[in-house]
Amino acid sequence: MVFTRRRVAVFVDGCFWHSCPTHATTPTANRDWWVEKLQRNQQRDRQTDERLHELGWTVLRFWEHEDPVAAVDVIERMVRQA
Ligand SMILES: [Zn+2]
Repeated sequence: MVFTRRRVAVFVDGCFWHSCPTHATTPTANRDWWVEKLQRNQQRDRQTDERLHELGWTVLRFWEHEDPVAAVDVIERMVRQA
């Protein structure tokens, strides 16, 4: 989700694909491949954050397990401030 005029980018990261600290798991089949794959996802997330920051964007990331109502409060506050 993006608020282009306010330059606020919102991501909702899946607990598995983005390795949430609470729910991250690594499949046992093809374990090495998954470890690398999930690490690459995290690296890509950080690179995306850096590039957006460099371009003057505010980046908000939420985990899929987070309360959506609380997330909306944060988004609303940040969009009003931006
Ligand atoms: Zn999670």
